[in-house]
Amino acid sequence: MSKIYIGTARNDKVRIYLAETKQLVEDARKTHDLYPTSAAALGRTLSVAAVMGVMLKGERETVTVSINGGGAIGTIMAVAKSNGDVKGFCGDNELYLKYNDSNKLAVGMVVGTDGYLSVTKDLQMKNKYTSQVALRTGEIGDDFAYYFMVSEQRPTITSVGVLVDTDYSIKSAGCLIIEVMPDALEEDIVYLEDMAKKLEPISNVLEKRDDYENYLKELFPDYKMLEIRNTRYICDCSKKRFFEGIMTLPKKDIKELLLKDKIEVRCEFCDKTYTFTHDDFEECLK
Ligand SMILES: [Zn+2]
Repeated sequence: MSKIYIGTARNDKVRIYLAETKQLVEDARKTHDLYPTSAAALGRTLSVAAVMGVMLKGERETVTVSINGGGAIGTIMAVAKSNGDVKGFCGDNELYLKYNDSNKLAVGMVVGTDGYLSVTKDLQMKNKYTSQVALRTGEIGDDFAYYFMVSEQRPTITSVGVLVDTDYSIKSAGCLIIEVMPDALEEDIVYLEDMAKKLEPISNVLEKRDDYENYLKELFPDYKMLEIRNTRYICDCSKKRFFEGIMTLPKKDIKELLLKDKIEVRCEFCDKTYTFTHDDFEECLK
């Protein structure tokens, strides 16, 4: 199972989230039959969303991330819960583009920069909170760092990556989010700036090693692990939930649907199809 390692360093002036999400992204890849660039774009988004999920406090709270930069991939969507459950999808599953110069998967290119990253938090209160920022590079990591800074006033170093194998399976995936706490000192910031310059891409680190605590101690000698959380790709849809969704539609739309013999609804997160017949509606029609 994929895991998120939460720790602290520099006398609690820094909070560190390391997510190892190879299995999570592999499950997303299999669910959606993702080609490499689509897998990298969705996988990066899911990995950061997973961390944002466990950052939530309340049991039933959720965070929804939506990214659309006008590029070929369309909208990327990820929903994460505070218990580590994550699901998502993207508009085009079959993208395989690389940058010519670096041979890296061209995530920024397929995402685009003409649009927004928006985050909606459902904190189980009356209102949901949505905030959005303009996309910076479409490479996802930069965009989330900008979001944390501007929308949540939380300066971070955010590094996220997905490596895809030649058979399209996921070789490594994860993210590292280093958050500077509000009471950080000048020397902490200097230390982090210096570290950011030398930081190896997190997907490379996760491909090579599995001694995460040692790795984090190399970054921060006084690193202290606080908590290890599970995270996974899973969809919580059900026929009942889709039915409830249909019932929220305007009456005339429902009547129109009922002109057909059966109604088929496909879940975008897990590709499951649910079929509704008139019998399903009988109760309500009365
Ligand atoms: Zn589903």
